[in-house]
Amino acid sequence: MIPALMPTYNRADLAFERGEGAWLWTEAGRRFLDFGAGIATSSLGHGHPHLTRTIAEQAAKVMHVSNLYRVPQAETLAARHVAASFADSVFFCNSGAEANEGMVKAVRKYHAENGHPERFRMICFEGAFHGRTLAMLAATGNAKYLAGFGPPVEGFDHVPFGNMNAVRDAIGPGTAGIMIEPVQGEGGVRAADLRFLRELRAVCDEFGLLLALDEVQTGMGRSGKLWAHQWAGIEPDVISAAKGIGGGFPLGAILAKEHVAKHLKPGTHGTTFGGGPLACAAGNAVLDVVLAPGFLDGVDRVARHLWRGMLGLADRHPAVVEGVQGAGLLLGLKLRPEVSNTDMQAAAVAEGLLTVAAGMNVLRVAPPLIITEAEADEAVRLLDRACLALTPSSAKDAAQ
Ligand SMILES: *Cc1c(COP(=O)(O)O)cnc(C)c1O
Repeated sequence: MIPALMPTYNRADLAFERGEGAWLWTEAGRRFLDFGAGIATSSLGHGHPHLTRTIAEQAAKVMHVSNLYRVPQAETLAARHVAASFADSVFFCNSGAEANEGMVKAVRKYHAENGHPERFRMICFEGAFHGRTLAMLAATGNAKYLAGFGPPVEGFDHVPFGNMNAVRDAIGPGTAGIMIEPVQGEGGVRAADLRFLRELRAVCDEFGLLLALDEVQTGMGRSGKLWAHQWAGIEPDVISAAKGIGGGFPLGAILAKEHVAKHLKPGTHGTTFGGGPLACAAGNAVLDVVLAPGFLDGVDRVARHLWRGMLGLADRHPAVVEGVQGAGLLLGLKLRPEVSNTDMQAAAVAEGLLTVAAGMNVLRVAPPLIITEAEADEAVRLLDRACLALTPSSAKDAAQ
């Protein structure tokens, strides 16, 4: 018989009762070091006092009023995001896929309002992940995810990640913009070359396209800067955000320059829950922490420390680990073809460490941004043991 909870996930047989910082405890009292952070989402870890207090206090005052009224928490949060980024205006929603839908709508609307409704196509990249709604399945372009859901939504063209010639070839009279993750998360923790991102900005300027970045996974400090595109020194026209911006409370956002945002007038786009008092209070609490002086420098420092530790794994376990990739606290352990990332994930769980599998046989390591160097060291120690457990016996013999 089908479970009451629809079986859309292959879940690990673990249920967590409480968390503190980077640690989670099961109902049975077993402790885990959480270097998955609910898929790069629990940016402040678990039970962060400022975040949990803010949510509790706001919930007791008023939780939901709808966007028929002013929402001061959303006004404040938007103003702070504008002050801290390239953006002139912000739209709040509830998830990454919803933010991406709105971002693509904004790009299409910009061209339509400028007299070019025929320009609605987005250039996307192989290995991308943009979400599970019908249009975002098409933007993702993964045949496995599209299968069985009817004709893909029109208007998404895919080219190889990092290939500038292919991008130029794909530009046509119907092209509206380019949509890319600065670091492909689900697709295998692949970081775009900073030079490639700069070239995308230039080609958008050359052809009058909009540069739309999916920063759902890379944003809100995960890269060591507030937004990952800042490493390239470029300004996009519009970005999407979600995952970490609510610290685990559902919150998504579109951040846009004025020339894009000004076309989303009343009646063009909307949401019932998005930008509510509770979610925006959570978003403000997360910003309080992430924008505090020195916090992002600390993320950068601990990320480099973790990177070095993970490079050590590649040195010590050449039969298991091929290399380390990614950026900031979104790191991937690229495994040898003989070792599957899901086996590695299970081996890490056996050692008390939570991680997340990603595409291209990569084990994703995306801890909360508040981890200490000691916790990074502990994660590497546990991964060391997991690697040892998965080392083929032939390689063990060779090493002796
Ligand atoms: C997770 C993710 C999404 C989808 O976000 P949801 O909140 O699951 O809809 C979109 N883009 C990227 C890059 C993501 O990592």
